[in-house]
Amino acid sequence: MSDTKTISAYALFEAGGEFKPFQYNVAELQADEVEIDVLHCGICHSDMSMAENQWGISQYPLVAGHEVIGKIAGTGDGVKNMDVGTLVGLGWHSGYCGYCHSCKTGDQNLCPSAQGTIIAHHGGFAEKVRAQASSVVAIPEGIDPASAGPLLCAGITVFNPIVQFGIKSTDKVAVIGIGGLGHLALQFLNAWGCEVTAFTSSESKRQEALELGAHKTLNSRDAAEIETAANGFDFIISTVNVKLDWNLYLGTLKPKGRLHFVGAVTESLDLSIFPLLGGQRSVSASPVGSPATIEMMLDFARLHKIKPQVESFPMSKINEAFAHLKSGNARYRIVLSND
Ligand code: NAP
Ligand code: ZN
Repeated sequence: MSDTKTISAYALFEAGGEFKPFQYNVAELQADEVEIDVLHCGICHSDMSMAENQWGISQYPLVAGHEVIGKIAGTGDGVKNMDVGTLVGLGWHSGYCGYCHSCKTGDQNLCPSAQGTIIAHHGGFAEKVRAQASSVVAIPEGIDPASAGPLLCAGITVFNPIVQFGIKSTDKVAVIGIGGLGHLALQFLNAWGCEVTAFTSSESKRQEALELGAHKTLNSRDAAEIETAANGFDFIISTVNVKLDWNLYLGTLKPKGRLHFVGAVTESLDLSIFPLLGGQRSVSASPVGSPATIEMMLDFARLHKIKPQVESFPMSKINEAFAHLKSGNARYRIVLSND
């Protein structure tokens, strides 16, 4: 017997429109699924890109939101590792195929058929959200639920490359763009033991970047300032969503250094080959991380007291919250809380 029920959410009905209350029906939970009562959900720049269909993959009505903190409200028959009431987090992925090479080797975040939480699936700007249990992680004690949401996307996106590329505590590293992702990258890399430079286009963030863990700041749009860092970095992570002069940044890498992109720039990179070739430098990019790496990140954040700096809005004020994000004045992540 099928048991349908209704979930209340906020949805967009067209690209760039306003969020409006929206209800959708769900059937019985699948055996491998959980239902989460959403307590808090961060707003990632990717939610804004999806809201405006900048990547051409949005489907409307769109229920965005993929930095969820909530409590398990129900479990499918096959779920053995989570109980009703467990405090959990859900990020960009809400399911994986479980059978491909990437899934079998623990790289579920690279699964070609991974289910996006807000792609053809209703996300966390809602009273409830559903996901495969394997994509949901328990939030450890010592992590503040009201500010933890941004760790589930912004946090893991900048933590994962530190693990993937074996960044060492003796490395000199830089973060381009100090927003939701960047402000967490500064905290993680500082706690990792690295010497950290923040590249920012906002004069007003320079002092704050130092407080977040940078040892030095440079203007990300000023060629002369960037050139002062020539041959300086083992690893640069770019979190900006705009095109910068990437060849200038290649010049700030040491031989064997890496320029790594996590920010979704839609323009082409236009890189010249000689700095790459001559110094055996690398350019790379990555999505979020696997559930195991998310767990590792949460534990690291707990130990080192790394915390997203958030501004809170009630979920019912979602349109005001998006307008604030768009203004560029959010410090550093907006989190919606169910009211
Ligand atoms: P955000 O909070 O808006 O931060 C982006 C930062 O980029 C801004 O704070 C700003 O930093 C800088 N920036 C913006 N416009 C600029 C300009 N014209 N010139 C120079 N710098 C500029 O966004 P976010 O949530 O951190 O997301 C950043 C990007 O990562 C987005 O493209 C998002 O879609 C993407 N993303 C990717 C993944 C992934 O899996 N790879 C996951 C999450 C998000 P300053 O003020 O310091 O200059
Ligand atoms: Zn995101």
